[in-house]
Amino acid sequence: MSEFNNEIWFVGAEMAPLVKAGGLGDVMGSLPKVLLKTGMNVRVVIPYYKNIIPKNLIDIREVYPPGKVNFGEIPFDFGIKTGFAMGDIPVVLVEQNHFFNREDVYGSHGGVCAYKDNLWRYAMLAHGAVYAMRILGIPLVVHTHDWSGGLVPAVVRQTFGDEKVRLQGGTEGILNAKLGRHVNAKGLRPAIVFTIHNLGYQGVYGIDDFYDIGLDFKYNSSSAYEHFGTFNSLKGGMKLSDVVTTVSPTYAGEITSPGFGFGLDGELKSLKNEGRLKGILNGIDLDYWNPKTDRLISSNLNLNEDTYKLKDYGEWKDFKLKNKKALFSDISMPMKTGDNGEVLPLIGIVSRLTEEKGINEFLDALFNWSDFPFQAVILGSGKDYIEGKANYLSKIHGDKVYAMTGSYDEALSHKIYAAADIFVMPSKFEPCGLSQMIAMRYGCVIAAGDTGGLHDTVSDIMDAGVKNPSGILIKHTSPDGIAWALNELYNRYIGDGAEWGSLVVNSANKHFGWEDSAKVYESLYYGIIK
Ligand code: ADP
Repeated sequence: MSEFNNEIWFVGAEMAPLVKAGGLGDVMGSLPKVLLKTGMNVRVVIPYYKNIIPKNLIDIREVYPPGKVNFGEIPFDFGIKTGFAMGDIPVVLVEQNHFFNREDVYGSHGGVCAYKDNLWRYAMLAHGAVYAMRILGIPLVVHTHDWSGGLVPAVVRQTFGDEKVRLQGGTEGILNAKLGRHVNAKGLRPAIVFTIHNLGYQGVYGIDDFYDIGLDFKYNSSSAYEHFGTFNSLKGGMKLSDVVTTVSPTYAGEITSPGFGFGLDGELKSLKNEGRLKGILNGIDLDYWNPKTDRLISSNLNLNEDTYKLKDYGEWKDFKLKNKKALFSDISMPMKTGDNGEVLPLIGIVSRLTEEKGINEFLDALFNWSDFPFQAVILGSGKDYIEGKANYLSKIHGDKVYAMTGSYDEALSHKIYAAADIFVMPSKFEPCGLSQMIAMRYGCVIAAGDTGGLHDTVSDIMDAGVKNPSGILIKHTSPDGIAWALNELYNRYIGDGAEWGSLVVNSANKHFGWEDSAKVYESLYYGIIK
């Protein structure tokens, strides 16, 4: 376990394996783990939610004295706990039962029905995190995430001032950053990195709300949180940070254009021109998402090597079939064969069911296709009308489509990744996307929208210049475009096996770990404090 000289503090709304609502949780769990392995001192701050999985949290201690903050005229007390998340990651938990002792992270239906007081809840996280820094030691770098972490930069600045900590003496780097601690002891503020995992969620509230969250009123300005008469947490978070990152190189370019910028493209373009916007590809936790050792699936992959050859396809086929049988038995769906006697390819979906993910169009593609040659298992939670459509499709095609909607089910998600032949993710925009990376690790061939991180991670079979294709990129994620892509994949699936085998093997050979990106983050942290 690392000692208590943590220099880089992550602050965010979720962290796997303690509590997870989506990709942010994965990143908050897996990136610190890799940074710790490289020798950096990292600590993660999240709220002390009711639904934190207790067995994944060890050595919890109460930090005294508890803190206090006024929201408008209402005083709130909060507690700080420290402990370790599974994998020995030091964590700080902000305990405030009124705000965090609830059933969900952001609200029900995967956050679609968001809690009305989320601005207050995440203001509490920011105040709690900064209070913990004052008690436990000011870090060198604060790395905060998404709109829910957008208030952190303001609280950091109003608490420690605007002057940023600097390493003295040149090139010691993060590992030997004792001097940095010394400088921080003088009360300088940490450097601030802000990562946008999804620009579609900005934390926009009425400007009056500004006065109720314990922020200095000077931040009610267009150079901070004010945005055309509204309060915008993401904008302020960006403006008050030293560097802004987003989670794939392609998305970092896309968000500077009006089509993807959600009204902040101008701000993002300026940041880019100043060299303060970077796109760094996310990774996945390769230990956790491992078909050879995964305990949540019924059969593990029986291969030792890390790089697979075409000859290994037999084992992969066996792995898929065994997991498909087990999944079908769990959900009581018959395994169907097509005209040629081959088992129909299984489409897997694990997704939030919101417009951006394109699942609505996928469902329409199957509705329009009278006798589609696929089976599909859909796990997702989100908009009522998309959940309803998925359930209706499974009602009228009960032998071919299974839908589990409205719930978050970690175990079922693993079973789907292990059993599916094709993983469908026709997103209209996708900052990075982790599901496709996980699916490739489990040997799925991908059908994905040609955008953001999907563009950066899926090698397109239709692109003649691509050497080891792992799926198909869909330019128009309309029902017709999705049906076209599925048809292309189906034709390869029913071929002589060699082409499909090479697609499966190529997918499984794409290792989306964190090692490369962790190095980029390390030099980024160092670059802003040196
Ligand atoms: P986003 O963060 O936009 O939701 P990502 O692809 O980046 O999408 O990450 C999604 C993560 O959440 C993946 O780990 C995926 O397996 C998981 N996930 C999404 N929905 C569910 C669900 N209903 N049950 C279990 N896991 C889910």
